[in-house]
Amino acid sequence: MTALPITRLERALALEVEPLGDGRVLVTGGAGPHVVDLESATCDCDDFRMRGEEFRLRGAEFACKHLMRTKLAHGDAGLLRAVAELLLNLRQGARAACSVRSGSAT
Ligand SMILES: [Zn+2]
Repeated sequence: MTALPITRLERALALEVEPLGDGRVLVTGGAGPHVVDLESATCDCDDFRMRGEEFRLRGAEFACKHLMRTKLAHGDAGLLRAVAELLLNLRQGARAACSVRSGSAT
């Protein structure tokens, strides 16, 4: 989990998914709409073309943001854990920033 590309996961969370009814999902909200095929777990974007092999070898946390978002919509356990970790890190970061600020103010 240490190599998790957090920024891609963060971008994935902001996307919208719309089932097309034929085993494919339309993902919108990014630079352009993309289509994810659920059965083959592939996406038509350039990022997936570059990283498809890494995703197949290392799991959903290494997919393009469209496939990540689709897998989140289907309750992918690994990605949900990654979201929980992201939130925890943000909370801890906010707490650390607060203690730094209050420390310098006194
Ligand atoms: Zn994609």
